Amino acid sequence: MRLALAGFLHESNTFATSPTRREDFPLHVGAAVAARFGGTFHEMAGFLAGAGEYGFDAYPVAAAEATPAGPVTRDAYEHITGLITSGLAAAPALDGVLLALHGAMVVEDLPHADLETVRRVRQVVGAGVPIAVTHDYHANIPAEMAECADILVVYKTNPHIDQLERGLQAARILAATARGEARPVIGLAKPEVLLNIYFHNTSRPPVQPLLAAAVGLEQTPGVLAASVAAGYQYADVPAMGPTMAVVTDGDRTAAAAQAQDLADRLWAVREQLHVRLPGPADAVRQAMAAARYPVGLLDFGDNIGGGSAGDSTLILAELLAQRAEGWVVTLWDPAGAQACNAAGIGAEITLSAGGHTDTQHGEPVQVRGRVRSLHDGRYEETERRHGGGRHFDQGLTAVLAITDPGRGLLVLNTRRAMPNSIHQIMSLGIVPAQQRLLVAKGAVAPRAAYEPVVADLIEVDSGGATAIGRPASAYRRARPNLYEWRTRP
Ligand SMILES: [Zn+2]
Repeated sequence: MRLALAGFLHESNTFATSPTRREDFPLHVGAAVAARFGGTFHEMAGFLAGAGEYGFDAYPVAAAEATPAGPVTRDAYEHITGLITSGLAAAPALDGVLLALHGAMVVEDLPHADLETVRRVRQVVGAGVPIAVTHDYHANIPAEMAECADILVVYKTNPHIDQLERGLQAARILAATARGEARPVIGLAKPEVLLNIYFHNTSRPPVQPLLAAAVGLEQTPGVLAASVAAGYQYADVPAMGPTMAVVTDGDRTAAAAQAQDLADRLWAVREQLHVRLPGPADAVRQAMAAARYPVGLLDFGDNIGGGSAGDSTLILAELLAQRAEGWVVTLWDPAGAQACNAAGIGAEITLSAGGHTDTQHGEPVQVRGRVRSLHDGRYEETERRHGGGRHFDQGLTAVLAITDPGRGLLVLNTRRAMPNSIHQIMSLGIVPAQQRLLVAKGAVAPRAAYEPVVADLIEVDSGGATAIGRPASAYRRARPNLYEWRTRP
């Protein structure tokens, strides 16, 4: 038995101003797929490991994954899907295809690009070859996906720490299907609610009991997979919002009914889905008054994993204005890192940091400080963290010890790097326990990395491309009558 595997993952923020281009996708073709993903906690690693577990030959075609940002260009999309479809067309006889797709990819003029990718793969392999799709928990899943794919499996955790298991699960169901032991069909249901990212933490209500119900469903005879996708509110697309997906063995009616039951459970708690969080000024005040340190501040508006810029100065400006001490802020600022590098370790430097991307993320901030250290920006994460990655590279990175105004550590890096690993700052000689305030540019994802090292995490309603309170009027394609919008106070 031979199963092809391919991956094309991007979470596209239609409110972000920087498009995602071909050069933003590291590309791995053929054997390079296993070299990149083997031994990680990614779903592609699950596909690869499935070969040994479930008795098939893995035929890796291509994989590409880019950091979330603005929509993917047509050029990048055509190039990468072209590699996948031509690779499949050239493959020896296939018994199935495993596709790792994010589920919230937007291409300039394709709101549901992942659906288009499945359609193109189907065109190449034909109706007789089963296709298993895995999605990120933040997928916006259109109803047509139930017809195009045979199997759909979504991560069950946020922070995403079960990607490996979901890859294995998809491989197991697909292998059984290829052997003729299962006839998977998908049922989808979409509750008419906006499930704000604030509620996406799978260890907390309202989502935790939903996930528990999905896990319970998977113990039911005839159910092959049961998933809850929370949706991704930063993509203005028709299917924006949560989706429940149940895969049964041959019973389409049961699959749809069980998905609808999960959707009804979310609908039942809709009144709890309004968000109220402190803005940057109140959050910094609250953090400075904490009884125990360090305290983490989650910068929701500049959520790099959600496609935001990574150079917002809105919280930094408050730290400086309130004369906070012992803080660490990381900004994506290649020019600043370069200026520090040119000045050298120990040099005093004045620069205008952050706020360069656009007008949503605050103004550049004038700071003065001493270059504390310089780094190549590479770090390794051996623990299981959001995204399942192991080797990271934030490019040339400088740590600037700010002396005026206030006192803190400003990290300036060259590549936008999600704060999914604490080694992003520890590799720079920063010891979290010796600090008071750590700013992480994310919403839920950084929790896996930061919860072990902080006394408390404060969630901040900051502005930016991932601002959490965007009104219905800011959307053109999304369904306008979602519950949270209709009833927002
Ligand atoms: Zn996600």
